[in-house]
Amino acid sequence: MSLYQCDKCGCVENSALGHYHSVNVRDLWPDEYVGKKLCSECGPPTYRSGEVCKKFGKWHDAFEKKIYPLNSLYTDDQGNIRRKSDGKYHWEAEDERQQHTNESESGITTKNS
Ligand SMILES: [Zn+2]
Repeated sequence: MSLYQCDKCGCVENSALGHYHSVNVRDLWPDEYVGKKLCSECGPPTYRSGEVCKKFGKWHDAFEKKIYPLNSLYTDDQGNIRRKSDGKYHWEAEDERQQHTNESESGITTKNS
């Protein structure tokens, strides 16, 4: 089980929940979905046979959907997602953003007091 970035919308998805393990099985999916790692929302709504695939077509809600710029992330050896730009985990990048917001907020408080 690992995390990966959806090839269509750029969100972080779990391999157990998205269109991941069988993406190269040509007999199973319509041509436009073969070889593409997609999230549960972007995954094929039907099988090649035309039968409806209930697993995909909407976000699974097992965790929050977070979108990142396409091709900005990669999966490391442990199955975690890292940013291509600096190798940081995507959640570390979020911590930084949070910290930055707190700093600017405290700056405003200092000015006011
Ligand atoms: Zn997607």
